[in-house]
Amino acid sequence: MLNTLRKIVQEVNSAKDLKTALGIIVLRVKEAMGSQVCSVYLLDPETNRFVLMATEGLNKRSIGKVSMAPNEGLVGLVGTREEPLNLENAADHPRYRYFAETGEERFASFLGAPIIHHRRVVGVLVIQQKERRQFDEGEEAFLVTMSAQLAGVIAHAEATGSIRGLGRQGKGIQEARFVGVPGSPGAAVGRAVVMLPPADLEVVPDKTVEDIDNELKLFNNALEGVREDMRKLSAKLATQLRPEERALFDVYLMMLEDAALGGEVVEVIKTGQWAQGALRQVVGEHVNRFELMDDDYLRERASDVKDLGRRLLAYLQEARSQSLVYQDNTILVSEELTPAMLGEVPEGKLVGLVSVLGSGNSHVAILARAMGIPTVMGLVDLPYSKVDGIELIVDGYKGEVFTNPGEVLRKQYSDVVEEERQLARGLDALRELPCVTPDGHRMPLWVNTGLLADVARAQQRGAEGVGLYRTEVPFMINQRFPSEKEQLAIYREQLQAFHPLPVTMRTLDIGGDKALSYFPIKEENPFLGWRGIRVTLDHPEIFLVQTRAMLKASEGLNNLRILLPMISGIHELEEALHLIHRAWGEVRDEGTDVPMPPVGVMVEIPAAVYQTKELARQVDFLSVGSNDLTQYLLAVDRNNPRVADLYDYLHPAVLQALNTVVRDAHGEGKPVSICGEMAGDPAAAILLMAMGFDSLSMNATNLPKVKWMLRQVNLSKAKELLEDALSHDNPQLTHSALQLALKNLGLARMIGPNKTL
Ligand code: PEP
Ligand code: MG
Repeated sequence: MLNTLRKIVQEVNSAKDLKTALGIIVLRVKEAMGSQVCSVYLLDPETNRFVLMATEGLNKRSIGKVSMAPNEGLVGLVGTREEPLNLENAADHPRYRYFAETGEERFASFLGAPIIHHRRVVGVLVIQQKERRQFDEGEEAFLVTMSAQLAGVIAHAEATGSIRGLGRQGKGIQEARFVGVPGSPGAAVGRAVVMLPPADLEVVPDKTVEDIDNELKLFNNALEGVREDMRKLSAKLATQLRPEERALFDVYLMMLEDAALGGEVVEVIKTGQWAQGALRQVVGEHVNRFELMDDDYLRERASDVKDLGRRLLAYLQEARSQSLVYQDNTILVSEELTPAMLGEVPEGKLVGLVSVLGSGNSHVAILARAMGIPTVMGLVDLPYSKVDGIELIVDGYKGEVFTNPGEVLRKQYSDVVEEERQLARGLDALRELPCVTPDGHRMPLWVNTGLLADVARAQQRGAEGVGLYRTEVPFMINQRFPSEKEQLAIYREQLQAFHPLPVTMRTLDIGGDKALSYFPIKEENPFLGWRGIRVTLDHPEIFLVQTRAMLKASEGLNNLRILLPMISGIHELEEALHLIHRAWGEVRDEGTDVPMPPVGVMVEIPAAVYQTKELARQVDFLSVGSNDLTQYLLAVDRNNPRVADLYDYLHPAVLQALNTVVRDAHGEGKPVSICGEMAGDPAAAILLMAMGFDSLSMNATNLPKVKWMLRQVNLSKAKELLEDALSHDNPQLTHSALQLALKNLGLARMIGPNKTL
């Protein structure tokens, strides 16, 4: 069964459009189940009717014509009950409705399964049989499994159709809306530039080109590049391989010939398809043919063709990236945005970001917020590879993206972009003013940094120190571990830029969603795995080099503070402190005269919340990482858009934990700050101030908004709001109460993207 399922899904996945995909589904499911009819009905959101979209066995002339409301017929019943329906004789059922056009009166038994994508019914898959019989359990399970597998494929094909104007009934849907999760607030109107993952043939889209000769030239260059690589590889392995093994390289070379794959790609390019698309098409056909073969040996050959395809594609992509010129108003779209990608687009050209994977608390979203670039994450239904060159609207507040916007929508969003510009200008005036509440409470606002551009932005916004410098960012945009000297230069630049203000440098916090290309960590549960301090304690050489570089960089400046991430207990802290003291001794022996800097721990693992007192006794300060603390307290992966709705830092459990940390840290006489994204949410900042945090550290973009808010709320009022929030057992109540309070205070202006806002 699995094999059949796999084959069908694979075939459907490679269909060029929705109609073809549905045609394959009904044909293959009918064959696999040995039924006489298989049909797919899809729910048309405009008319709210289930429309017959494809059938094998019923009258094909009724396709697109027969439809039923959710309260009509058996199909409507399956759709509304969201459960399979298995009937020996359909006509006996009170909900049976007869559609003469389909000729279905000949079929007695009926088995229907709902097609559900992300909790939403998108259609119904039905099989029918002439003789009266109940389909058995195995058949029912097969159909349910099939429809669950196909739901995503159908949703994807539909979305692609809507983008290219090949909607359900072939009518061109101009404007399509895709819903993801907010990544970074703000709105943007621009054109999509898609960054495809390197050498992944499956996602290469079709594209028509005018300059066919240029595509042919690009392809010939790629062919030559791969030929050369093969020859070199063959020569290099000459002494290690037997002649028959080396013959594989000759096979590869032959496949590249005009008479084989190479020639076929050229033919497709001549029809006006770009080289990458032609390559995907030809390689795909060959791979499919091999993979559907029953002979194991021949099936394995598919991987050779794929390998060759990937090699050719890498050359084509390289050539494209070299010739790519970024226009103004670029919106970068990718399956998985990475911090390195953010640096690809020249300054001033990038207005928006879109990622299929990841969520609002993914690190790339945090960087996007720091850069002030509107971003939508987790757009799982966006056929991202197909949107290159298309006009897009990015709504980073709601987490929505519109493709091909019409006049009205474009105007509406262009106005929002302009309003935001004015608001930002208004906030600039706050730069020189302190963050003091009307009743005189001083709340120091610090900034989170990592990118070079953060320095200038932080200074413009009047930050009073750096509460979190994410040192992994310079590691991530490198091709190898930076040396001690290189790190020293980077850290010195930070320390100097903010001097005499304090700069809190966090030791390397990789793992989770922060990968180094040159130090891959593959794990089933990366957020519960080898992360942060766990990695660096296992690799003292990395930790020592880094802390030595930090210490040396602070010579003569003395504004360094060191922060340890992901501490789960005293033992880790003691080990880390031991290494820091060792590094300090070493650099002083080498003649660098620096005092021991203050050292702090991040409280971001629930275990640390309950050990705040013990940790506080051994360090100079604490800093709460509410991003991770929220994910670990609520068991919600911060990177997973499916559970983004459950991620909520105003959850009573999170608020209680934060309150406990402040109380216990102060009990030991140690200052405590917070550097998670929550600190940059103006409404949440009110509660944090009331809890007694000694400083709030946030991205430079949000700093003026928080300052604006806190300058208008009395500490006494903030304490009232906190008391109220702590009494709620439901986070929704806290959101509503905060929103209402801000509205009553006339402070709703900053209400924006995050949950509270
Ligand atoms: C946090 O977890 O809240 C934090 C500030 O660190 P990061 O987001 O880099 O994990
Ligand atoms: Mg963290």
